[in-house]
Amino acid sequence: MIDTILPTYTRAPLTFVKGEGSWLIEADGRRFLDLGAGIAVNTLGHAHPGLTKALTDQAQQVWHLSNLYHIPAQQTLADRLVDLTFADTVFFTNSGTEACELAVKMARKYWFDKGEHRSEIITFSGAFHGRSTAAIAAVGTEKMTKGFGPLLPGFTQLPFGDHDALQAAVSDTTAAILIEPVQGEGGIRPVPDQCLKGLRELCDKHGILLIFDEVQCGVARTGKLFAHEWAGVSPDIMMIAKGIGGGFPLGAVLATEDAASGMTAGTHGSTYGGNPLGCAVGNAVLDHVANDDFLADVNRRAGALRQKLEGLVAGNSDVFESVRGMGLMLGLKCRAANADVVKAGYEAGVITVPAADNVVRLLPALNITESDIAEAILRLDTAAKSISSE
Ligand SMILES: *Cc1c(COP(=O)(O)O)cnc(C)c1O
Repeated sequence: MIDTILPTYTRAPLTFVKGEGSWLIEADGRRFLDLGAGIAVNTLGHAHPGLTKALTDQAQQVWHLSNLYHIPAQQTLADRLVDLTFADTVFFTNSGTEACELAVKMARKYWFDKGEHRSEIITFSGAFHGRSTAAIAAVGTEKMTKGFGPLLPGFTQLPFGDHDALQAAVSDTTAAILIEPVQGEGGIRPVPDQCLKGLRELCDKHGILLIFDEVQCGVARTGKLFAHEWAGVSPDIMMIAKGIGGGFPLGAVLATEDAASGMTAGTHGSTYGGNPLGCAVGNAVLDHVANDDFLADVNRRAGALRQKLEGLVAGNSDVFESVRGMGLMLGLKCRAANADVVKAGYEAGVITVPAADNVVRLLPALNITESDIAEAILRLDTAAKSISSE
């Protein structure tokens, strides 16, 4: 008999009923160290007092307003994101997928309004941009798209890191290039700084819009507020979600005035996008993460975690091959099956997340404590040893 929940997820036999900082508590009382953070969502861990207060304070004022009216928390959050980034304007969504939808629409409308026939969007193998019909067409893999056709046309997928293919694919019908500065689902694969710079130059040369998907790597996860800052280049359009809501559904598209020029009154909308609750929490997240002290702490914690992970890999070379990633967006490339490592982690009381390329992702809360990092390594070591001894 089918589950009353549509069975699109294969779920681990774990039922978490409470969270405290970097810890999750199972219904049976077991405590798990959470290195997944809801897949890079719970920026400040579980039940953060500042975020909880922001949400409940707003709930007591007003928790839904239509975008037919001005929403103060939304205006504040937009102003702050514009101040903190390359962007001139922001549209709020409830998820990364919705941000992808708008990014695609915005890029195509830009060229339509200029009277140019440019609709093609270039993406890269290993990418993930969401599960909508546009987002699966953007990625284009059989795994994502099989059975869901006809697909939205106008996407070209190129091999990750193939510069010649990129040069050859760009033409006068290219509207935009869409890329994650650090691939998440694809197995924690950072795009080298010089490649992001090269992409920016290529886009400038051909007038192409550059779209960064920072849904997973953004909002302080890599130790800068946005991952592309490491390369010193900025996009024309950027998708964010996950971390900006700290666990509350919130996403956004940030854009330059020029890139956003096609999106005039009536061209797009959302009932819940930019709602008072989400924006109140988004503002509280920025209160904590958008400052040099916090970012320096993230980099310090990341350095400590990475160093310990190198030791873990060296001590368990039959299970692990290497550490990769940036900041607190780290991956363990495995020799054992990554699914087995994640499962052994459950037994050892540590939560990790699998990714493509046989990688186990570590995406802890950005405020994970030193002692929790030490405990995480002990538990990962226990998990690895349990696999070696099998
Ligand atoms: C998770 C993710 C998305 C989709 O976001 P949802 O909030 O699940 O819709 C898009 N892009 C990237 C890079 C992601 O990691």
